[in-house]
Amino acid sequence: MQKKIKMKRRDFIQKTAASSAILALPSLPLMSFGKPDIKHLTILHTNDVHSHIDSFPADDSRNPNQGGVSRRASLIDSIRKENSNVLLLDAGDIFQGTPYFNYYGGELEFKLMSMLNYDLATMGNHDFDNGIDGFYAQLPHAKFDFVSANYDFKNTVLNEIVKPYKVFNKGGIKIGVFGLGIELEGLVDKKMYKETVYNDPVETAEEMTRILKIEEKCDLIICLSHLGYNYRNDPDKISDLTLAKKTKDIDLIIGGHTHTFLDKPTIVTNKAGAQTLVNQVGAYGINLGRIDFYFDHNKKKTHESRTIIV
Ligand SMILES: [Zn+2]
Repeated sequence: MQKKIKMKRRDFIQKTAASSAILALPSLPLMSFGKPDIKHLTILHTNDVHSHIDSFPADDSRNPNQGGVSRRASLIDSIRKENSNVLLLDAGDIFQGTPYFNYYGGELEFKLMSMLNYDLATMGNHDFDNGIDGFYAQLPHAKFDFVSANYDFKNTVLNEIVKPYKVFNKGGIKIGVFGLGIELEGLVDKKMYKETVYNDPVETAEEMTRILKIEEKCDLIICLSHLGYNYRNDPDKISDLTLAKKTKDIDLIIGGHTHTFLDKPTIVTNKAGAQTLVNQVGAYGINLGRIDFYFDHNKKKTHESRTIIV
């Protein structure tokens, strides 16, 4: 009996030693070395995953063995071990693209995203593919929230459920995230989106940044957008690049819809002459976007970024 307790105790000591060894590992990036008052926030993001739950097959001509929820999960896990201040975001079009959606209607997508601990998502046009009621029906499976500031859901089932924005606090850094959706008319059958009203993204963003910066006093403002990166043949159409130019106080726009692959964010000079980052990481869960922000004691921020192949 005593021997057993001793064994257990030794076991415990070894485990404790192992975990403090992990904690002591110098995994901090160079930028924060020797500056203990620097706060580090990691933003991870996906877009247009389109029900791609499995990885691509080994004989796929473009993305062999790439993507898949399980590979994304282990990647995210290892990043969370590096830094506990992580926000995991999705910019919409979670639904549609594989038989998983046709059979289960999005249940699997939401359950798996919940297991990966997604913090927030916005809605893409394909998230209306089973109608607004089909989306609503799957929401009990999502342990994360959805935001959209320019879709007015007042006369729909999503009223008061999909909020315009959400504020997070990660290690003393206040982050405001708002959502923007694409114009649904002409893109989605009205039967599907019903009484959802589309409001102007630029005006909405101005209102959101005012609330998040002045009222909520956020240190970082992120727009989760499904507007699309850029429309060269239709420059008047609102896109992430034009949104960035026409607004101020958005630090980062995480986009979707155009399946644009960027290996690093595009830096746009905004209306106030400051920098707004615009990023998007292709589609189908092949890539995971990663942007690290570092805040000094004055909350002045710098960033570094990379797009990771899953
Ligand atoms: Zn889309």
